[in-house]
Amino acid sequence: MKPASQHVTTCRRCHALICWALTTANGKRQPVDAQPSEEGNLAVTQGADGLLYVRSLTKAYPEPRPSEWRAMPHHATCPSPPPRRSSAPTPRTTHGVRPVPWQR
Ligand SMILES: [Zn+2]
Repeated sequence: MKPASQHVTTCRRCHALICWALTTANGKRQPVDAQPSEEGNLAVTQGADGLLYVRSLTKAYPEPRPSEWRAMPHHATCPSPPPRRSSAPTPRTTHGVRPVPWQR
């Protein structure tokens, strides 16, 4: 499995191909590398709602399910990750990702 093309976008900082996925743990958006990685510690899947979901692979459950693929968090590979700010939701509110037409 790999991300459907409508999920793939580019990192604003390094222009690598990434996908935004929602963490199953807390529903936060997390950038993951669009290219599946065997060394990745994340399992990404497309939910029935068409959104991407990401969960951490653990020692207890180290293998992705057949519907998932293994990916690296983009923060781990981005050459210029955003500076860590302790405070601060981002000032502008975004309503999810930009709308894209659903393609079949
Ligand atoms: Zn980047």
